[in-house]
Amino acid sequence: MKIRFLGAHNCETKYTRLVSLLVDDVLAIDVGGLSSSLSFEEQRKIKAVLLTHQHYDHVRDIPTLSMNLFLGGANTTVYSIPAVFEVLENNLMDEVIYPDFRQKPPDKPTISFSPIEPNKARKILDYDVLAVPVKHGVPTVGYQLGAGGKTFFYTGDTGPGLADCWEKVSPQLLITEVTASDKFTEWAVGGGHLTPSLLERELTSFRKLKGYLPRVIIVHMSPNLEKDIATQIAAVAKNLSASMTLAHEGMEINL
Ligand SMILES: [Zn+2]
Ligand SMILES: [Zn+2]
Repeated sequence: MKIRFLGAHNCETKYTRLVSLLVDDVLAIDVGGLSSSLSFEEQRKIKAVLLTHQHYDHVRDIPTLSMNLFLGGANTTVYSIPAVFEVLENNLMDEVIYPDFRQKPPDKPTISFSPIEPNKARKILDYDVLAVPVKHGVPTVGYQLGAGGKTFFYTGDTGPGLADCWEKVSPQLLITEVTASDKFTEWAVGGGHLTPSLLERELTSFRKLKGYLPRVIIVHMSPNLEKDIATQIAAVAKNLSASMTLAHEGMEINL
């Protein structure tokens, strides 16, 4: 699997984009920085979009991707939990803010919604997909994706308390959020996010349960706190003897 990090942050600037992953050019996970990162041609190749939750930084490009596919005569399927579809339907593609591309064109809709059931493995394109609930302020699922004997798990936005989640996944690569530095632990816990120290505890519980630690890539950093996050993650990696890196826009890895 080839994973491209189109967006790796929680705030958009000239230098940072909102979290978005692209797998093998055909499957996107979260789309805060998707359409601004890809050509029309690349967008037309996307056959599945997985959304972790309804927050704007994760769903923002569903309307822009839809418009581009509509004009390009292509279509795609969006997979998520029903709560996310409700928000898209009522707040983003409500025919007030933007068209509802599930009706356009009527004979061959540009976009369709396919609800997924958490904790139930299924196939999407050529991937074994498992959506697993995580702890955040709104209903949120992380996704485990497997293909060709390789597996990764992306948490989406999550706060502490992932023990239940770890029981269900066994990834070789963990892509997880760390939004804030340790100084903002109280704020992070309140918002359902992680800091380096909170992640260290989650990884310790992972290793206790599974007997190993996957390679870890961090996303959803606050750009203003990124320097501190990087220093603190390096310390955590040392403590745990783990491979931990911060993602950046344009980063690409082969799993
Ligand atoms: Zn969120
Ligand atoms: Zn977010």
